[in-house]
Amino acid sequence: MAAMKNNLLVTILLSLAICCLVLTVGLTVEPTLTEIGLDGEVSVEASELEAVSLDFGRLSRREEKTTLALVRPASLDDVVKVVKAANKWPSFAVSARGHGHSISGQADTRMKGVVIEMGKGSGEIKVWEKEMYVDVWGGELWIDVLKATMEYGLAPMSWTDYLYLSVGGTLSNAGISGQTFNYGPQISNVFELDVVTGKGEVMTCSEERNSDLFHAVLGGLGQFGIITRARIALQPAPQRVRWIRVLYSNFSTFSKDQEFLISLHGRQASQRFDYVEGFVIVDEGLINNWRSSFFSPSNPVKISSLNADGGVLYCLEITKNYHQGNADSVDEEIEALLKKLDFIPTSVFTTDVPYVDFLNRVHKAELKLRSKGLWDVSHPWLNLFVPKSRIEDFDKGVFKGILGNKTSGPILIYPMNKNK
Ligand SMILES: Cc1cc2nc3c(=O)[nH]c(=O)nc-3n(C[C@H](O)[C@H](O)[C@H](O)COP(=O)(O)OP(=O)(O)OC[C@H]3O[C@@H](n4cnc5c(N)ncnc54)[C@H](O)[C@@H]3O)c2cc1C
Repeated sequence: MAAMKNNLLVTILLSLAICCLVLTVGLTVEPTLTEIGLDGEVSVEASELEAVSLDFGRLSRREEKTTLALVRPASLDDVVKVVKAANKWPSFAVSARGHGHSISGQADTRMKGVVIEMGKGSGEIKVWEKEMYVDVWGGELWIDVLKATMEYGLAPMSWTDYLYLSVGGTLSNAGISGQTFNYGPQISNVFELDVVTGKGEVMTCSEERNSDLFHAVLGGLGQFGIITRARIALQPAPQRVRWIRVLYSNFSTFSKDQEFLISLHGRQASQRFDYVEGFVIVDEGLINNWRSSFFSPSNPVKISSLNADGGVLYCLEITKNYHQGNADSVDEEIEALLKKLDFIPTSVFTTDVPYVDFLNRVHKAELKLRSKGLWDVSHPWLNLFVPKSRIEDFDKGVFKGILGNKTSGPILIYPMNKNK
């Protein structure tokens, strides 16, 4: 009897397994998606599915065809309909894709499913001039947010170095750059979000309302819902930027100066820089690298003449924003701040650009690299937070040790305040 029961159990399990296999292999979402009446587009074109399985990193590509369809929503309603359909039986996975500029396939579905390419969606960027915030669709690119807000003389405060990234994409990470020491990452500059949850409900969340969801979605790597609208804080936009680079041959002096500069956060604008970043130069060619195309070529520097410690130099990058009207006082403010730093005196490189050109600086390099076919290549990239207590060891072990003169890729150092 017992043996028979066991046999029966095995048979039932076996037939269940076969049944599941058939369902999984045969799962096609196309009829479901055409039946739910989307206003946007649905594509099952092999070339389009292949394209969304790739991203900027070019490090991962789905071997088995996990992406069954691609949806380009025309509205919030479309996103809701797809997520609700994904919850019905047979269910399928859903993944939001912004501009596909992460590096390891984060915006692709890991299981068989549908990629929602957020794109322009409903397309509206609504600037609330008096309230000093802007409402944007989750798939909107930061460059377009900047252009729209600049029409009102306003701009968000915290940025990434590159602006062809989507609002939903960077808010799902953190969004850090040289302004973070002062304003915090981009996720600290959001008032409110509309999120489509895993069940297909639309929830508005903020610090005060559904705050668990708000905090889970910000920096949540797309795992807690799809951001369809973000309300982002604005401030009056400056007109121009004085952009300065100075060099160091000694790492402790460099990091001490970086730490000093970020300790000035919250001071009056005249008493601090507006942006503090830096990079490591382990290769002489790098001083004229893709990030420096705004600096005049008459600024080349002979690294060998600078007495680099262990063959490595450190470049501090700082900016001061200003309005035409106070251009005179800017020079004095910069001079006073530079006097407090301990860089190599002959290594000051300065340029002056419109605010939008500064924020959009990497795009210029992108166009150059694209023209040489060097943009659509693999981009291995690693971000690490290193505590102040170990940064000197990191310099010795990694910059001077592992990397020393053997890499030509950019190595950026962003000083950060933990409390931001
Ligand atoms: C050249 C370059 C420079 C960069 N510079 C910086 C920098 O200075 N600072 C910085 O912080 N980062 C930087 N990044 C990294 C970048 O911020 C992240 O990779 C970001 O996720 C890319 O945005 P995306 O729109 O391309 O997102 P995608 O790659 O499309 O998606 C990234 C993640 O977000 C999720 N997601 C996308 N949209 C939504 C949404 N609407 N709702 C919920 N989840 C969503 C996806 O599912 C995925 O998990 C840079 C990247 C590149 C390529």
